[in-house]
Amino acid sequence: MILAVTMNPSVDISYPIDEFKLNDVNRVENVCKTAGGKGLNVARVVVQMEEEVLATGVLGGMIGEYIIQELTKGSIQNDFLKINQESRNCIAILHEGKQTEILESGPTLSSEEGRAFLQKFESLLAKVSLVTISGSLPKGLPTDFYHQMLEISHAKGIPVILDSSGESLKHALLHPEKPYVIKPNGTELSQLLGIEVGDTISSLKKAVDNYLFNGIEWIVVSMGGEGAFVKHGGNYYRITLPEINVVNPVGSGDATVAGLAVALNCHQTVEVVLKTAMTTGMLNTMEAGTGFINMNKFKRYFNEVKVEKL
Ligand code: ADP
Repeated sequence: MILAVTMNPSVDISYPIDEFKLNDVNRVENVCKTAGGKGLNVARVVVQMEEEVLATGVLGGMIGEYIIQELTKGSIQNDFLKINQESRNCIAILHEGKQTEILESGPTLSSEEGRAFLQKFESLLAKVSLVTISGSLPKGLPTDFYHQMLEISHAKGIPVILDSSGESLKHALLHPEKPYVIKPNGTELSQLLGIEVGDTISSLKKAVDNYLFNGIEWIVVSMGGEGAFVKHGGNYYRITLPEINVVNPVGSGDATVAGLAVALNCHQTVEVVLKTAMTTGMLNTMEAGTGFINMNKFKRYFNEVKVEKL
């Protein structure tokens, strides 16, 4: 089983409005509410791939209850630490082809709540063979919190796919207990290294050879429609994709993480791992919903992904 962690989940609300009026009343008819957060997207895609997954993290209040209800409706097993504060709403107003977002920052966790989650995390590791950690940390937790989770999973010999960015990712890379996989996109890679990484093979190679990544088995730099650049076991790979009809790319990185998790958990070959991850990413872009893939199309697109060892 795969454990999918989301430390700051949300209810994502979208308001489609023909014409957004500032400083006036805007009425909405077709409100869409979903359980959001990167790790929840990962869990959703893993379930669609018919593999077992357990969603965990921290949530609370009525919004937290709604998230649990939605996960249960979608047959996603879940075991979250419940806190006394409300989880957050993230609102997207879709108007005139634009998207205006209002993102609540969410609860501020106390150090006791942080410790309680680490205890829960440790106990859940007994049930799983791989962990995915996605997204940002809630307020109140120290920036080395993901590193603390890595220490715990390292002690139990459970590999971790860490898909985060900024300081929490950087902290996690500075210690001997490394994630097994990281999946930065181009922007996150540039941010992490503090330089603009170009998309040529030589600049990508130079970037993934940075000392920060020493000891990480898989560095998967996802590049949207351009596929990915990967370093694994001292080898470099360039992956290219077929032309597809993109409907909604939001969450494709999470679908990629789900594909990586499922294929690695089944001990697939390098080529199958990379093709699976790219295919789930592509399939997510072809659906309107975030974290949804149509597995009937899997084989067709899988066969069109090209993995070139450099
Ligand atoms: P993130 O969502 O984390 O920014 P990317 O945008 O790099 O990640 O997308 C992750 C993966 O999803 C890509 O490697 C690719 O497999 C797929 N993908 C994303 N956008 C497209 C696109 N426009 N065409 C084809 N595949 C895409």
